[in-house]
Parts: sequence; C-alpha cells; structure tokens
Amino acid sequence: MPYRITLIPGDGVGPEVSEATRRAIEATGVAVDWEVINAGAEVIPQYGTPLPEHVLESIRRNRVAIKGPLTTPVGTGFRSVNVALRKELDLYACLRPCHKYRGVRSRYDDVDLVVVRENMEDLYAGVEFAKGEPNTLRLLDTIHQLGGPRLPDDAGISIKSISVTGTQRIVRFAFEHARKYHRQKVTAVHKANIMKFSDGLFLEVAREVARGYPDVQFEDAIVDNMCMQLVQKPELYDVLVLPNLYGDIVSDLCAGLIGGLGVAPGANLGDQYAVFEATHGSAPKYAGQNKVNPTGMMLSGVMMLHYLGEHEAADRLERAIADVIAEGKFVTYDLKPRRDDPTAVGTSLMADAIISRIRQTVQTQ
Ligand code: NAD
Repeated sequence: MPYRITLIPGDGVGPEVSEATRRAIEATGVAVDWEVINAGAEVIPQYGTPLPEHVLESIRRNRVAIKGPLTTPVGTGFRSVNVALRKELDLYACLRPCHKYRGVRSRYDDVDLVVVRENMEDLYAGVEFAKGEPNTLRLLDTIHQLGGPRLPDDAGISIKSISVTGTQRIVRFAFEHARKYHRQKVTAVHKANIMKFSDGLFLEVAREVARGYPDVQFEDAIVDNMCMQLVQKPELYDVLVLPNLYGDIVSDLCAGLIGGLGVAPGANLGDQYAVFEATHGSAPKYAGQNKVNPTGMMLSGVMMLHYLGEHEAADRLERAIADVIAEGKFVTYDLKPRRDDPTAVGTSLMADAIISRIRQTVQTQ
C-alpha cells in the first residue's frame, strides 16, 4: 500500500524545491500517493482565505504532509499561513537538525546540532493590538491601572505568553529526542534575567523536567550569550530547546553555521500530525528561476521517511545528497566557492544528480 501524503508545493521557490523533493523520494522506491494541495496567497481569490479548510482536512486525514515555503506579507495583510497551520494541527515542536555535510562551504567543520523550537506560544500566539485602536487604548489604561507602567498612547502591543504546560511538553520533547538519538546534552535557551514571568517560567519548568532525565546532561544559557557561543564554538552544543521567537532566530543562525538556508531541513511535529518543511522561506527574488538549492527540502524528506519508519530509504536519500554535495559538481550556486560560478547547476539538475546516485545505490545492492 502506498503512503498517502499531503504535498503543499508552496509559492516563490516552493514549487521548484517541492518537485525536486517529490522526485527524489519516489526514486528511493518508497511508494507514495501524493495529495497535492495549494495554499497561500494564490488560493485567496478562489477560497477567500490562504488556508482553506480542505488543506487542513487533507493533513488530518493523511497525518503526514510535506510543504514548500509560503510567503507571508510583512506588516499588513493576512497572518502567516505557516503559523496558522502549526496552530490548527497542534504541531507544537519544530525540529531543526543542523548537520554540516562534507563539501558545504562553512567556517566550521564540526557542527551537529539539533534545534527544538516551541511552535505555539510566545510572541507568535497572535495576541496583538494595533496602535491607536480603542481596545489598544483601553489595554494601555488597564496595564497602568494594574500597576504597570504608563506606556505611550501611540504604542502597538504584542503579548508574550509562555505556559507551564506548553513548556513541559516542548522540553520533554527535547529530552526524548536526545534519548532516542543518543545525544548527550540539552541546553535550554532563554532571557529569564529580563522576562522573569515568561522566560523565567520557561527556565524553571525546563529545570524541573530535566530532573526526570538524569541520563542526559542539562544546562541553560541566556539567548544573547548563546548566539555568541554558537558562533565561537558550536561543537560544544548538542540539543537546544527554545521558546518560539528565539528558536526562529537561532535556527537561522545555526543554518548559517552549516552552510546556509539552502541546506537546513525541518519538521513541525505534534502528537497526531507531522508537517515537514525546510527552514528557508519562499526566496521570492529567485522564484521561477530553477536556481535555489533543493537540499533543505530534500533533507526534510529524509526526516519524513524516518518518521514513516522507512529508515533504509531515508539513509539512501541522505547518502545520495551528501555524495553529490561532497563531489561539488552538480550543485547549486550557494554550494560553489563563488556565488557567480558559471558551473553551478539549477534546482532540477541537482535533483537529477541526486536521483541518479540513489538509483546507483539501489542497483548495486
Ligand atoms: P528566505 O528564506 O525566503 O530567503 C532569504 C535568502 O536566503 C534568499 O534570498 C536566498 O539568498 C537564501 N535562500 C533561501 N532559500 C534558499 C535555497 N533553497 N537555496 C539557496 N539559497 C536560499 O527568507 P525571507 O526572504 O526572509 O522570506 C521570504 C518569504 O518567505 C517571507 O514572506 C517569509 O514570511 C516566508 N517564509 C516562509 C517560511 C515557511 O514557509 N515556513 C519560512 C521562512 C520565511
């Protein structure tokens, strides 16, 4: 029986990297019946929303999805479809492994980190009050009446909320991941010295949860210092667990340690559903140019195959990607020594090279 998997191609460079990934997964020999469904700005004229109910229904039915990036307008317009998807499906853990492959250009040789980002709470909860609106002015008054400072009348407000239950499950997820994959240490990242009731709570709960995992080391770090430590000595870290916003930012920093957004995969996981997607966004300036690196999304496909229990196919795909990168011939511009290297190939040719590697390993077995 083939797996039935929802495939959301995404927009910008999404359709190109999605197609490359679909072909590579099929080349592993794992049978998949793809349910291809569009979301984002392009479906608004037809459905009146960037996230129509049938997209969610498809993922609920199939339980597993892989998606290309979706553009979110900055400042105004609709809220992030990516954030809404995570909320609707309770995908509370964002897992972003950052492994440096041989042949990728990076200042570091020895990076093998896992970023576990909380996906539901924090400043991403969507509790916002626009500048000057009556409710915002009332809120400003209420804050003052409750003993808070008199904030400026022309302030916009975003609420940061971090709960005990939300923190418990993400920190447990990080420890369970560490145990399962034989990792040594979990570092909880926070700014508890300043935000005592949100990040302070995160730290306190993380410490409590850590007591239940005496076989895994635990430490904590303040986020600004963590950024410096990661840049100076990333080899000291193993599993990082972070609230939503720091997790978002530190994921990109860690992607930078392993060669850039082109090679960074990810998964959004809950207790019932899983949605796999690269760390990168829709890179609009490269849309339709068959130019960007499909590796981030393909490695997300590797994570998906592991999730499905198809470990051999996952290893075969990962090896093929690693071999093509190490050889450095059929790779996209971002993996060449110079960005304007004329020998760089496009998304689909890099995918072809990976697929022919997979076929070679299948034949020689
Ligand atoms: P981005 O990740 O799309 O691109 C930033 C830069 O990174 C690109 O200009 C490019 O130089 C490089 N890059 C990204 N992907 C690459 C790849 N596969 N290969 C080679 N280089 C690559 O970030 P952005 O420009 O800040 O965001 C663009 C849009 O994507 C925004 O609307 C944002 O909201 C959205 N976004 C979506 C997701 C998602 O769908 N999960 C994630 C992040 C951003």
